[in-house]
Amino acid sequence: MSHPVFRVGPIRPPSECESLLLQVTQGCTWNKCKFCKLYRKTTFRAFSADSIKQDIDAIVYYADMVRKHITPDGRADVNAMNRELSTLEGEVQHCYYMVANWMLRGAENVFLQDGNTLALQDGRLTDVLHYLKAAFPSIKRITSYGRAESLCRLSVEDYKELREAGLTRIHSGYESGSDEVLKFINKGVTAEQEIEAGKKVKAGGIELSVYFMPGVGGRALSQQNALGMARVVSEVNPDFLRIRTVAVKRRTELYEEFESGRMELCSDDEKVMELKTLIENSDCDTMLVSDHIMNLLPDIEGRLNTDKAKMLKTIDDYFALPELDRRVYQLLRRSCRVERISDLKHLGSTERRMLEKACLETPDEKEWAIKMNELLIKYV
Ligand code: SF4
Repeated sequence: MSHPVFRVGPIRPPSECESLLLQVTQGCTWNKCKFCKLYRKTTFRAFSADSIKQDIDAIVYYADMVRKHITPDGRADVNAMNRELSTLEGEVQHCYYMVANWMLRGAENVFLQDGNTLALQDGRLTDVLHYLKAAFPSIKRITSYGRAESLCRLSVEDYKELREAGLTRIHSGYESGSDEVLKFINKGVTAEQEIEAGKKVKAGGIELSVYFMPGVGGRALSQQNALGMARVVSEVNPDFLRIRTVAVKRRTELYEEFESGRMELCSDDEKVMELKTLIENSDCDTMLVSDHIMNLLPDIEGRLNTDKAKMLKTIDDYFALPELDRRVYQLLRRSCRVERISDLKHLGSTERRMLEKACLETPDEKEWAIKMNELLIKYV
């Protein structure tokens, strides 16, 4: 028997790990940010409403298969699901697995892929959202990526319509709020566009989650990066500001900037200083979130007004460590061995000595920053 399949794109934000992924576009409309190679080999496509509805129909098909193994009072026969899964292969198996997992978690969250869904205009997105909600009334949250430059083109009324149709949150990779940094990384947007886009999204009743990249402008633009983001976030007051510490990957234009000497890598300490500057200079109740392994201090989380003191204390505690301890912590964090500074207490003396020796082998600050970047790029 042949089963339908549906498309799934390559990425989603970590906060959408329990969401169903529905691909409504493919690739990115811009594709030129210097740090990003994700869609370089993919030509942007916006799928037709009919084609997306076919994918939703395929999801309904798998949901019906899975539902046979769920009793009316909500108990799931996971063994029966696994047996059925084992009879399937390849893409079909993947589709079943994804829908089953989603259903077991209540079928509440959906993430629309790929890099710039809000480029889907002419009412198609609204049409698709209505169709999706009708197929799955259990859905409570639908989120998507949108570039600030595309978000600017829609009106507050457009956002209200999308909200009404079911779109609840937009994720936008602002990366920086400094025009100098945005130009340097070739983001293709200005700080003013970020502010306009953010205000419109919020005025339309949609939650906004924006991203900040400490270190993306290199040492020369480090302060501007933080101060620019503080200004933008204070103007927009997004619901979330998510930290994505930069990792300068090989075969990106940003790596070329570094290799040619036009950009110096920020050290971990400088990236943490950016966060300190950001927190000190922000005036809004946005929730700062550290939900990625690349962030050195995951404890830096909280509201940018009420939790300021708590977050700054975490940073001060970090800088209060002797430099050698900070390096040991960086090494351990980059190998996923610690989550917070206090974890250093559990380190045995032999291991500590070995780690200190490894740190002392690279006394030069710039060389150390390069080493830490090498460890970081494993995660992107
Ligand atoms: S807008 Fe996003 S997906 Fe597109 S190139 Fe930039 S970082 Fe990559």
